[in-house]
Amino acid sequence: MIPFISRKPLEYQLTWLKRFEQLLPNEQVLLAQDIAPDEKQDCDLAIVLDPDPEMVASFSQLIWIQSLWAGVESLVDLAKTQNIKLVRMVDPKLADTMAEAVLAWTLYIHRQMPSYAAQQHNRVWLQLPYHPAESCNVGILGLGELGITSANKLISNGFNLFGWSRSKKSIEGIQCFSGQAGLDKMVSQSNILICLLPLTKHTDGIIDKALLQRLPSNASLINFARGPHVNESDLLEVLDSNHLYHAVLDVYHTEPLPPNNPIWSHPKITALPHITATSFPQTAAEIAASNILHFRKTGQLTSVVDLTRGY
Ligand code: NAP
Repeated sequence: MIPFISRKPLEYQLTWLKRFEQLLPNEQVLLAQDIAPDEKQDCDLAIVLDPDPEMVASFSQLIWIQSLWAGVESLVDLAKTQNIKLVRMVDPKLADTMAEAVLAWTLYIHRQMPSYAAQQHNRVWLQLPYHPAESCNVGILGLGELGITSANKLISNGFNLFGWSRSKKSIEGIQCFSGQAGLDKMVSQSNILICLLPLTKHTDGIIDKALLQRLPSNASLINFARGPHVNESDLLEVLDSNHLYHAVLDVYHTEPLPPNNPIWSHPKITALPHITATSFPQTAAEIAASNILHFRKTGQLTSVVDLTRGY
C-alpha cells in the first residue's frame, strides 16, 4: 500500500491517483486520508505532492519518499530526523516548461514591456531605444536541471549567459561562477538576474539589499525558485530607490500572497501565482512510477536528495 499525500484540492489529487492506478497496477496507491491508522505501519514508501509534513510523519515505517515536486525543502528536516530517503522529481518536461517561462519573462523585461504597458496606460507615444539580445547579460543563480535548460534556451535566443553554482563548472556557452567572489562578480555584470536555486540554509535570503544594489543600474530580477530566497522588504526598498528596472516574482514568503501585501500593487513588480513550472501528471507520474518499479526490483533509488546539502 502506497499513500499519496498532498494538500492540493481533492480533484487534483484524484487526477494523479488515476494515473498511478494505470502505471502501477500491482500496487495499491491510496489517498493518505483513506488509510486507517493501523494500516499506516505497512507502508514503506509514500508519494507526496506539497504534503503536510505531519501527515508524512504519521507513516512511521517509511524507507523513502517520492516527491512529485523538484523542490523538497519542506521535507528535508523530517527525512533527516526519521532517517528516510528523499527522492525528488527530475523531469525534462518540467525543465522545458521552466525554460519556456524564463525565456518569456526575460523577453518581457528585455523588450521593455513594463515601460510600454505604462506608456499605453498614459497614452504616451514614445519609441524607446532597441538593444539586441547579445548586449543583455543574463545571470542565472543555480545551474541544475532547471538552470541549465533555461540557460540553453536563452543562449539559443541570443542572450549572453552567466551562471552561478555551488561547485565549479565548465559549460559551453555559459560563463560559470562559484563561491562568494564569483557571485559578486556575476551579479555586478547581470542585466537580468534569475533565481533557480534550491532553498537551503545557504540560499535562504541570498537576494538581499547588498546583492540587489550590486546589480548594474536598471537591472531586473526574476525569482522562479522559492519566496524566501528574496528578502521582500529589501527588494521593495531597492525598487523604490529606482536602482532596478523591474522584478518578476512567481514565489513569495507567504503563499497565496496576502491581499494587503504591497507586492500586488507595486508598479515595478509583475506578480505571478506560483505557476512557472508545475509538475505534469502525464510525465512526472511516469517517472515516479518507474522509480517505484525500479526500487521494487533492485532496492535502488535515483535522484536521491543529499540531506546534508539540503538539495
Ligand atoms: P537542482 O538540479 O538541484 O540544481 C540546483 C542548483 O543550485 C545546482 O547548480 C547547485 O549547485 C546550485 N546550488 C545549490 N546550493 C547552492 C549554493 N549554496 N551556492 C551556489 N549554488 C548552489 O535543482 P533544480 O531541479 O534545477 O530546481 C531548482 C529549484 O527550482 C527547486 O529547488 C525549486 O525550489 C524551484 N522550482 C520552482 C518551480 C516554480 O514553479 N516556481 C518549479 C520547479 C522548481 P551544484 O550544481 O554545484 O550542485
